[in-house]
Order: sequence, then structure tokens, then C-alpha cells
Amino acid sequence: MVKKLERCSFCGREKAQVNVLIAGLDAHICDYCVTQAQSIIGEEMNSKTDKQFTQFKLQKPMEIKKYIDQYVIGQDEAKIVLAVAVYNHYKRIRQPQKNKEDEFEIEKSNIIMVGETGTGKTLLARTIAKLLKVPFCIADATVLTEAGYVGEDVESILSRLLQVANYNVAAAEKGIVFIDEIDKIARKGDNPSITRDVSGEGVQQALLKLLEGTVVNVPPQGGRKHPEQKMIQVNTKNILFVAGGAFDGINKVIASRMRTNVVGYNVGKDRGQIDRENLLQYISPPDIKKFGLIPEIVGRMPVVTYLHPLKRDTLRSILTEPKNSLIKQYKHLFELDGIKLIFKEDVMDFIVDKAIEFKLGARGLRSIIEGILTEAMFELPSDSKTKKFVVSLEYAEKKFRQTSIAKLKVA
Ligand code: ADP
Repeated sequence: MVKKLERCSFCGREKAQVNVLIAGLDAHICDYCVTQAQSIIGEEMNSKTDKQFTQFKLQKPMEIKKYIDQYVIGQDEAKIVLAVAVYNHYKRIRQPQKNKEDEFEIEKSNIIMVGETGTGKTLLARTIAKLLKVPFCIADATVLTEAGYVGEDVESILSRLLQVANYNVAAAEKGIVFIDEIDKIARKGDNPSITRDVSGEGVQQALLKLLEGTVVNVPPQGGRKHPEQKMIQVNTKNILFVAGGAFDGINKVIASRMRTNVVGYNVGKDRGQIDRENLLQYISPPDIKKFGLIPEIVGRMPVVTYLHPLKRDTLRSILTEPKNSLIKQYKHLFELDGIKLIFKEDVMDFIVDKAIEFKLGARGLRSIIEGILTEAMFELPSDSKTKKFVVSLEYAEKKFRQTSIAKLKVA
């Protein structure tokens, strides 16, 4: 029998004319066609992400807040400020492009959120990004360094955004970047130092470039480990930057500003109105500047809002109320094994008490529940008879005592 000539079933090239010919069940494909197919797939994926990221319905601020309410408990001030800022941001980038002369430029309103760690800053930004279906990434300001130093370049933030957007530059250019721990790159002390300040002002200067809106050459894989990679140009003009930080000690800055302000004609009147327990509500851009962010950064992040420390009843609500609350998540996990999980009411109070006692905040709630349920989650999937599991206070206390959290106290 004469052997049939092997050729690519797509372009017809013979085996001798190509580098590689891959055999399938009834067909072959050559390396040229594979490369071409890859670029077709890339284009298709791009237009798909484009649709996913750009054809969203713009929600009104009240609708945005209502949506966030489902996931974030309390923090109304921050929710309202964010909803308005995000709404205006998207209105701004969606306004029809007229000719240059009568183009009306609305300036971008990047946001700074001030609040203790674990009060919901990241959650707020993440929830909004989910609603708007735009690319969203979190960057940690503490790992950023000036170009030339060990650490991540500021451009790496955009690499991450590009990755999330499936390398669709147009989508990434409308995304949201959350910069966590911005307070950690504050200038230490009021005197600019003569020695290089690797993690402070230099990084702020580099970050400023992004905030101002420029075209940045972004290494697609991030980092400088791949010098051969082709740079992608990203314009940051329409990227919304939301920064968060605990700004430890800013209360003192606010207090001192307010004390100075109230000296004068209105002393009596203003003093009476100051809520000293919650000074954060009076935060304003000059306080951020005094804390150590350079004036240019403060100027580029004109919207400043704050988050309340989480009180007992907020923690209690966080446990059960959000759409994907921790309790609902664990119930669902058990349900997947056909087991109904029930927490007694006093167990919820116990969990909150422990989170407060060990100063773990909202993040600690999960570790505590995990500690209480680990044994059950280990044993019950193999026990086909158990269809219901009730967590009583007694059980919770016993299991909690065995966790590493409880042991912290002894140490
Ligand atoms: P931050 O960014 O302020 O440090 P996060 O947003 O990361 O804090 O919050 C940590 C976790 O705590 C969240 O993932 C969420 O589970 C929970 N959490 C914190 N604050 C809230 C809140 N106000 N409503 C609902 N969950 C919250």
C-alpha cells in the first residue's frame, strides 16, 4: 500500500514544507496554521473582554450604594463618596468625544480612604469593580520602590491590571487600581532627607506619574526579569486610582489642625460640635499632606473619605448579613456534602466576642470559625450518616480553646 502524503489539513502544505506537522485523529495541522489560529483566538478573546468590560450599564450613585450595601456593612460615608466618585468618573470617560474646540474636560477624582486595617477598604473597592465589571487590581504600596532599587517598579501595578484585562489595553485603561497601604510610603518627618529615600518620597514621585495620567511603557509580565519582553503602552488618564491606608496617628494631626482652627471668633460654637471620639470624620486633604504624602499626590487624590472602626454590632452583622457572609459560606460548604450546618445564636456572639478580645477585627472572624469547624470539616465528609450538624456554644468554646488563636493568650 502506498503511504498517503501527510499534509496540513488547513493550508495544504506538505510535511517537508513545514517545521512541525501535528497529527490529530483524521487531520493534521502545521506550525504556521497553529500560529495563525493563536492570533485569531487572541483577537476573539480581546473583543470578548472588550464587551465584558466596556458594555456595562452605568448605575446611578444610589444604585451603586444599594449594590455595595449587599456586601459591605455600615461605612455609609465612604460608600456615598465612592459611589459619587465612581459615577462621575465613568460619566467623564463616557462623554461623547466632540471636536477638540468644544471638548469639556472633567478632571478625574482619585480617592483616598482612611481607616483602620480590616474595616472594609479593599472590600469596598473590590465590590464596586465587580458591579461595574471593569478590570480591577490591588497593588501594595509597601513593595513599590523607585526604579533601580530592589522591589517592584510602580509600572508593575499596570502589568497586573493588564493581566486582569486579558491584555486588552482599552479595557485596562478604564480600570480601577486599588493601592493598599499608601500611608506606608509617606515621608518620614517634615524635612526632606538628602540621602535617597527608597521607600518614601521617591516612590511617591513615581506614583504621581501614574496618577497624573501619562502613557507608561509597561512590561507585560511585570518586573525586570524579562528584559527581552516587548513593552505595552498604557495610558493612565482614565484609570481610577483608589488608595487606602490606616494612617496611624492621623487623629493627632486632625486634632491639632482643629484646635488651631477653633482659636478665634467661633471658639465656643465650634468646640461644642466636635465629636472627639471620632476625629476621622473631619479628615481633609491637608491632614494627609501633613502626614507625609507629597502635595502633588494629595492634589491628584482630591476625594478623601474615612471608614469607622468596627464596633461589636457591626462585626455581628458582618457574620451573617452580607450576601456572601461567612456563615452563609460555611453553610454552603457543608451543604455541598449534604449536611445542614446550624449555628446557635450564642455561638455567633461568642465568635464576635473572641474577635474583639483578641483584637482580630473582621478578618479574625474567619479564622475563629475555621478553628471551630476544622475537626467537623475533616470528619463529616466521610460520615455518610450525618445529615445535620449543630454548633452549640459548648462545642464552639471547646474547639476554640484548642486553636492556635486561643493559645496566643497563654504565651
Ligand atoms: P482593609 O482593606 O480595610 O484592611 P478589608 O476590606 O480587606 O480591610 O477587610 C477584610 C475582611 O473583613 C473583608 O474581606 C471582609 O470579609 C471583612 N470586612 C471588613 N469590613 C467589612 C464590612 N464593613 N462589611 C463586611 N465585611 C467586612
